[in-house]
Amino acid sequence: MSIIENLNLVRKGIPNEVKLVAVSKTKPNEAIEEAYRAGQRVFGENKPQELTQKWNDLPKDIEWHMIGHLQTNKVKYIAPFVSLIHSVDSPKLLAVIDKEAAKNGRVVDCLFQMHIAEEETKFGFDYADLSEFLESGALAELRNVRMVGVMGMATFTDNQEQVSYEFRHLKEIFTKIKQRYFAGDAHFKEISMGMSDDYSLAIAEGSTIVRVGSAIFGGRVYSSK
Ligand SMILES: *Cc1c(COP(=O)(O)O)cnc(C)c1O
Repeated sequence: MSIIENLNLVRKGIPNEVKLVAVSKTKPNEAIEEAYRAGQRVFGENKPQELTQKWNDLPKDIEWHMIGHLQTNKVKYIAPFVSLIHSVDSPKLLAVIDKEAAKNGRVVDCLFQMHIAEEETKFGFDYADLSEFLESGALAELRNVRMVGVMGMATFTDNQEQVSYEFRHLKEIFTKIKQRYFAGDAHFKEISMGMSDDYSLAIAEGSTIVRVGSAIFGGRVYSSK
């Protein structure tokens, strides 16, 4: 199947109000251009340098999302153009994004990445850490970031019940944070959850943004370097 056929198949399973981020990490520009020609305008990458290179090379009406773990010293590369950072996993990172966004005269939209999986290795806030940060009032000082919701990744497992449970948990976290800290803020409304293997489960649990890579572009190509 071609990228366009894959894309159309994925789109059929996603309601209009759910945003599809086409995850193009490791894929060449030609693959992105093919999806672009089929109307796709939102792409996600997980490496700042690769993201910056693709932003440089490709049409400027593409909305680029940073979805992977972000080191503070790399924020400067993407601050001039990134549309949404899904992977804010510490107050320190958020402060750096704020500083770099200010240098570019921008306000950058961000999601709090929440740790919902069983695995130890996945990045993200625990609810306790996040509420401590939100209670501290430090967010109000950051004028160049705008928090628009939460993101999470489920455990890598075939157990669909567990995956659904973890997505439900993320939705509950979102609702609690929304009520306590963002009740009057119409922009705080996004729940980024769901990948190629589990986006249908995520949508059933209230996802507003899905991040789909291999179901669109096929398996990933890793360079041998
Ligand atoms: C790679 C990646 C995806 C897409 O994964 P697929 O299984 O290829 O759909 C989604 N989210 C994040 C954070 C990723 O790193």
